[in-house]
Amino acid sequence: MRSLPLTPIAGSAAAAGAPGTTADAPAATSAAARRAAMPPRHLADLDLAARSALLAELGEPAFRAKQVSQHYFGRLVRDPSGMTDLPARSREHIAAALMPPLLTPLRELACDGGATRKALWRLHDGSLVESVLMGYPDRVTVCISSQAGCGMACPFCATGQAGLTRNLSTAEIVDQAVYMAGAVANEPMPTSPPRLSHVVFMGMGEPLANYSRVVAAVRRLTAPAPEGLGLSQRHITVSTVGLVPAMHKLADEGLQVTLALSLHAPDDDLRDELVPVNQRWKVAEVLDAAWRYADRTGRRVSIEYAMIRDVNDQPWRADLLGSLLRGRSTHVNLIPLNPTPGSRWDASPKPVEREFVRRLRAAGVSTTVRDTRGREIDGACGQLAAAEVVS
Ligand code: SF4
Repeated sequence: MRSLPLTPIAGSAAAAGAPGTTADAPAATSAAARRAAMPPRHLADLDLAARSALLAELGEPAFRAKQVSQHYFGRLVRDPSGMTDLPARSREHIAAALMPPLLTPLRELACDGGATRKALWRLHDGSLVESVLMGYPDRVTVCISSQAGCGMACPFCATGQAGLTRNLSTAEIVDQAVYMAGAVANEPMPTSPPRLSHVVFMGMGEPLANYSRVVAAVRRLTAPAPEGLGLSQRHITVSTVGLVPAMHKLADEGLQVTLALSLHAPDDDLRDELVPVNQRWKVAEVLDAAWRYADRTGRRVSIEYAMIRDVNDQPWRADLLGSLLRGRSTHVNLIPLNPTPGSRWDASPKPVEREFVRRLRAAGVSTTVRDTRGREIDGACGQLAAAEVVS
């Protein structure tokens, strides 16, 4: 096994080893700094009742909140100037009080014959985040970011190297999906349905470290229009590196979303290094939380495993992983590592990957290798933002 440098988990309550806490509750000074950096309130931060109350305070009629919400979530109109059935004065109120621009597109790229599109956004405070849209024959999925940067410090990940800048607001999370839903509706992907159907929280950040805003975003994405975007809860996937208290909390939310656990190693020795939060919550505890999630929700848990050459891809690790997962309600996604420029981490060779798959399947564990969408456009976690920062 290679010895890897350990990096402290910056800005994460998990680093302090505080069960039940998340980055929603950091130290007082950093909380103040982060609040200062949060964006202005937006319609997607609020439920329909709160939108109505706010607009009533501005002297708008009772039906206005539904009307504006229908524009945003139903017709995917993100700019109030496009709501031409509203009086000009109302559009001004709404722009000022409910719909400040949250995401400024810096760069949009396409590859895979137009079946993958990636957007890099600048937020109001200059932070950069990204979203990736992926078209398949049966669905269209958007991968969205939940934090600017990430405090989890996984050493093989571009985002993890820069640390956490701040949590995204609920609306900054939701607006990525609404923008991409509009992009698909206006310009369908070549061989995919003309409608966004799935959302995965696998962009920048550790979603469960921004717990309350991510759960609010899930509720907004899945509430029927005009309250929300009307997606199926079963079409939403929330990933985590294994923040155990937050996993338990999510299991008790009454949601039907898929939980994806980024495991990356079946043994604590290696996982302590690849996923530093493992120093707080060990493999056995993390898997117990995953099985409890499956029991409580009836949803199969995804196990994500980045295949890294000569680091975590040995046959004995496949066998150990198989023994941990055998008989459980789970599916393994092996992810060929997309190495960051200048990184010493590399993807496993294909024969090694095939043998890993063979051993897991021989143990009775459902396993697939994830496609590597967006490689031409730095499609791995956080890499487009990293490229922009260094260029
Ligand atoms: S792999 Fe995910 S959790 Fe780990 S540092 Fe990167 S973005 Fe954060």
